[in-house]
Amino acid sequence: MKNPVKNEKVLLSPPHLSGNEWKFIQEAIDTNWIAPLGPHVDGFEKEMANYLGVKDAIAVSSGTAAIHLALSLLEVSSGDIVFCSTLTFVASANPILYQGAIPVFIDSEPETWNMSPSALEKAFCDAALSGKLPKAVIVVNLYGQSAKMQEILAICNRYNVPIIEDAAESLGSEYQGRKSGTLGEFGIFSFNGNKIVTTSGGGMLVSDNVEAIQKARFLATQAKDPAPYYQHSILGYNYRMSNVLAGIGRAQLQVLDERVLSKRKIFSKYYEELSELPGIQFMPELEGTLSNRWLTTFTVDSIKSGISAAEIIQAFTDKHIEARHVWKPLHLQPLFNGAKYYPHQEYKNISEKLFKTGICLPSGSNINDQEQMRVIESLKIAIRQRTEMTHPITG
Ligand SMILES: *Cc1c(COP(=O)(O)O)cnc(C)c1O
Repeated sequence: MKNPVKNEKVLLSPPHLSGNEWKFIQEAIDTNWIAPLGPHVDGFEKEMANYLGVKDAIAVSSGTAAIHLALSLLEVSSGDIVFCSTLTFVASANPILYQGAIPVFIDSEPETWNMSPSALEKAFCDAALSGKLPKAVIVVNLYGQSAKMQEILAICNRYNVPIIEDAAESLGSEYQGRKSGTLGEFGIFSFNGNKIVTTSGGGMLVSDNVEAIQKARFLATQAKDPAPYYQHSILGYNYRMSNVLAGIGRAQLQVLDERVLSKRKIFSKYYEELSELPGIQFMPELEGTLSNRWLTTFTVDSIKSGISAAEIIQAFTDKHIEARHVWKPLHLQPLFNGAKYYPHQEYKNISEKLFKTGICLPSGSNINDQEQMRVIESLKIAIRQRTEMTHPITG
């Protein structure tokens, strides 16, 4: 007999509406505010700034656009160097290329999977020796886990280089009591469809530097000079968020804390059920931090478990379960061929190992118990089959 539920795909991180989105969209339509500006945009920016405890925020069309604006504000231009976490989505580094600048990639460390302070230190030492420091450092908080910001800030402050905190995946997370994305000169967030809250597509740039955010507003609206006609003195962009989408964002922001709790609960259940399996190790949560657990991720030691990450993902695919490899490090991407890269320690690559052994599990805040149990059982079966193959029960 066929169980229809079995064929329904369990997705990695689908959008999860709160139910209030329609009210905000309706209001935008009723008041004819369909423009890429309007009361919902203003409201969304204020509510985000309040939630995070920063002085100002600008809503933009994507997280990528927010990073691009941050680099523009820091006057990163052709030939400049920018340090960037290597274990991340390509969007973290693409804006470096938009500016004609040169990315230098920094490895992860094992306790947070994020930027290694020791690799960063080495990169700064070399840069100082060569007489050319980076213009900015882009630090990513992977899958909701904050990087070791205290150590990273200390190094960057010593060289007087500003940090752009890529908090696209860590909205709602905390680092030593402060909201993720508020520790650098700039923080950026994404509201892409797969993120913890979404506007279908969108982003936010935040900072305590009110003047800089004011300038970002100017740059993001084609850098239109204050003149009675269309006059432009510098290069701008069309990066503002529409008032309709900002309405969706306001409704989503209202349930953000609930979503963090759901994601953490999903993680706990996976941990409870799977952490005892041979060779399985979940992404750690650094002391003094709170992760939103955007995606539950773990590594598999194929010698202990008898199965590789690629084989596990295939086993999930066969069962209509969407699991993914951990991000492929950017220094291994053909796009960044030839870019400089600093490993965690000499001959010790953390990001490459995480890529080879890491898996992201379905973690949508709207996943139900039955679906999550399907994921759990599938992994248990896949590993049991392998361990029985390598250690056959004889009797
Ligand atoms: C999603 C994401 C971005 C970019 O966000 P978009 O809104 O899709 O442009 C940037 N950095 C990281 C780490 C992300 O996961």
